[in-house]
Amino acid sequence: MSALPVLPPLREVIAAHGLNASKALGQNFLLDEQLLARIAAIPGMLEGQSVYEVGPGPGGLTRALLRAGANVVAVERDRRCLPALAGLAEAFPGRLRVIEGDAMAVDAREMAGEGAHIVANLPYNVGTALLVQWLSSGWRPWWASLTLMFQQEVAERIVAPVGSDHYGRLAILSQWRSSARIAMKVHRSAFTPPPKVMSAVVHITPEDAPAGVDFKVLERLTAAAFGQRRKMLRQSLKGVPGALEALARLDINPERRAETVSVPEFVAVARELSV
Ligand code: SAM
Repeated sequence: MSALPVLPPLREVIAAHGLNASKALGQNFLLDEQLLARIAAIPGMLEGQSVYEVGPGPGGLTRALLRAGANVVAVERDRRCLPALAGLAEAFPGRLRVIEGDAMAVDAREMAGEGAHIVANLPYNVGTALLVQWLSSGWRPWWASLTLMFQQEVAERIVAPVGSDHYGRLAILSQWRSSARIAMKVHRSAFTPPPKVMSAVVHITPEDAPAGVDFKVLERLTAAAFGQRRKMLRQSLKGVPGALEALARLDINPERRAETVSVPEFVAVARELSV
């Protein structure tokens, strides 16, 4: 393998391009290259693999991904970052494509291609919406894995086990046909500027979807159940046609509350209601 290009320290890149962090764009940059290399290692071997990154900013995570051998397609909304990223593209010829745009509006599959890994230190304001978009795609999904930085509280909602305070719709969406774990916790002081809260990197890999379950039905069911999470299922599922009968058939006590119903149990009820 050829020697890796020598790059200027990220602090110099930020200073040279005047990249003062914008709060509105959720800009909290990571500058510790060892930490960035550890994040880039979470998806596994990236040599020759395709990676889709949202919000490369000054390019810290991007350079770690390129050094790991990935071919990167990155979408950045802040055009001030583009000259810094152009420098990185020059250092890794043919390996980095940067698109100026809003990650909520672009077609990631089209740009990154089937089988890409998604890796991002997400802007907090669109992070959950993007995750929901990726988890709601046709299954098996076009992406190979998700390695995403979130505020720790959101990360805990994604991996929450049944019965815990954080367990809810996001846990079910993240776990019913994929496995989700917290791969790394990241202290707020690792970011420039430091956010108010701690962060964590979540790693999600797709699995086979349970047979006979309509995603929309599962969504409707969990929306109703967790819309009134303190109420008994008997009450919260009253408006979902057939749900109470399905509970009876499955021998699930209607006096239980949503937070005690496991992911496989929700899946089983949704299967009963899917036609
Ligand atoms: N990847 C860099 C890092 O780890 O240091 C920056 C991460 S920073 C938390 C989030 C980045 O997302 C910023 O560069 C910001 O400009 C960009 N961003 C914010 N909203 C975006 C959007 N809707 N689409 C694409 N990029 C966005």
